[in-house]
Amino acid sequence: MAIHTINYYKEELMPIYEYRCQKCQDKFTVTLSMAEHDQGKVECPRCHGKKVTQQYSVFFAKTSKKS
Ligand SMILES: [Zn+2]
Repeated sequence: MAIHTINYYKEELMPIYEYRCQKCQDKFTVTLSMAEHDQGKVECPRCHGKKVTQQYSVFFAKTSKKS
C-alpha cells in the first residue's frame, strides 16, 4: 500500500506556485506545468487580473527521480 502511494505521487508530481494579485491583493496558489508557468498564463481567480506577483514555489516532492 505504501509503495502504491509513492507511485501515485510520482505520477501526479506538479509544482505549486503562490501568487498575489496586485489589483485586489488576493493571494492564491496554482498548479502549473513548467511550460504553462513559462508562458505566464496566470491570472487572479477573483478578478481575473493578469498583474500577479509570484511569491514562492513549492513542490509536492523534491526527491522523486525517474529511474
Ligand atoms: Zn485579483
